[in-house]
Amino acid sequence: MAWDFSNDPEFQETLDWIWDFVENEIRPIDVIQEELGKPQLDQLTAPLKEEVKRRKLWAAHLDPELGGQGLGQLKLALMHEILGRYSIAPEVFGNQAPDSGNSELLAVGATEEQKDRWMWPLLDGKLRSCFSMTEPHVAGSDPTLIQTRAVRDGDDWVINGHKWFASNASTADFLIVMVVTDPDAAPHRRAAMIVVENPTPGMKIVRNVGTMSHPYPSAYKREGRGGGHAEILFEDCRVPLDHMIGQPGEGFLLAQKRLGGGRIHHAMRLLGQAKRAFDMLCERALSRESHGRTLRDHQMVQDFIAESAIDIETARLLTLKAAWTMDSTGAANSRKEIAMIKYYGAKVAYNVIDRSIQVHGALGYTTDLPLEGMYRQCRALRIADGADEVHKVTIAKNVLRDYEAVEGWPSEHIPTRREEAIRRFGHLVDLHTENL
Ligand SMILES: Cc1cc2nc3c(=O)[nH]c(=O)nc-3n(C[C@H](O)[C@H](O)[C@H](O)COP(=O)(O)OP(=O)(O)OC[C@H]3O[C@@H](n4cnc5c(N)ncnc54)[C@H](O)[C@@H]3O)c2cc1C
Repeated sequence: MAWDFSNDPEFQETLDWIWDFVENEIRPIDVIQEELGKPQLDQLTAPLKEEVKRRKLWAAHLDPELGGQGLGQLKLALMHEILGRYSIAPEVFGNQAPDSGNSELLAVGATEEQKDRWMWPLLDGKLRSCFSMTEPHVAGSDPTLIQTRAVRDGDDWVINGHKWFASNASTADFLIVMVVTDPDAAPHRRAAMIVVENPTPGMKIVRNVGTMSHPYPSAYKREGRGGGHAEILFEDCRVPLDHMIGQPGEGFLLAQKRLGGGRIHHAMRLLGQAKRAFDMLCERALSRESHGRTLRDHQMVQDFIAESAIDIETARLLTLKAAWTMDSTGAANSRKEIAMIKYYGAKVAYNVIDRSIQVHGALGYTTDLPLEGMYRQCRALRIADGADEVHKVTIAKNVLRDYEAVEGWPSEHIPTRREEAIRRFGHLVDLHTENL
């Protein structure tokens, strides 16, 4: 019977090293990263990336044949809990979204030639990528509705359509675009993935859409920095046939490959954020006085602390369990667990950050603390990568697989159960009371 909540000591040493590295080397850059252009940020992070590679922790989410360590999801989850504390840390470790998911997609779907052209340079940090599925005029929650079409014409695919929320498209070297190739096929056999290099004639980036994170995108024109969510028009955009990843109709199959492990890493990164916000909450509760006592002695603040501690602990255990399930039974058998933590991790982080803002009062609302930025980012994750409701649908569907319908009374119907019990044990019951 194995039921162990401890880390293995050797990997704990790795985690301790990552913690020190993130706090001492990445945190100081993270504080000023919004003020840096890409060349300056690259200059500061290049030696850190080299150190991560030297330690064999670069792109650790990949299988060994792709240069990763084959660590398994549980260890990766523990790593990402630390990386989540600062937004640039995943990039320094070679596993920032959407590049990490795209490299996994290319690993399973690309030909050797396509890997040489896009995947290996992506893994090396030499190229940046984007994944473009969502469209403004159909529900992203139901990708069988996508309308962007790719039609074969001679040696090319010709793409026409309208996408948006293509994160990092403006600065990416290539986009993986989900398109309809077979409109008359069954819904999940209609789509395919095509690489469109940036720039390609006919692909027009209309704008980076203003969001809660970047309300005024025109103010964020720092040279070459990613992070924008682009609206894109494809107008007779031609790409050669060998830009298709996999076969026509395999788009949904490939889309699923991007998401399994990535969602666990996302959830643990969010927990890293939640823990950082919680640390701030606790420090403030010990440091500020009102009405003749420190905040820690107000019961409502204690309630915030207790609720947050429980939230973080439950989300952490749930996420580690999902990672363990994925390691033990594979991604396909862990859909319920992965959907649970995608939903619950974002919810917990959102609530804890919100309570931390509250306990800091006006200061919590200011840009003098990282909380307001964390809050805005965290809000997006209840929509991005699947809205909360859609993950709940997946959870409910998977849960219900373990149940069967009954005819007549529910199986817990007391009079029916009692009848059975009386048949077996009636001689011991005072049946006199039966008619009372
Ligand atoms: C910050 C950010 C980054 C993103 N990055 C990318 C990216 O890089 N590439 C990309 O392709 N997309 C990206 N997206 C888009 C994201 O994947 C979609 O927003 C998401 O899938 C939801 O689609 P939608 O916005 O069209 O909302 P809709 O599908 O229109 O859903 C709207 C709401 O309807 C409700 N709803 C929908 N379906 C159901 C259901 N079955 N049951 C109950 N309620 C339901 C939910 O409340 C949902 O929030 C990003 C989004 C954000 C916010």
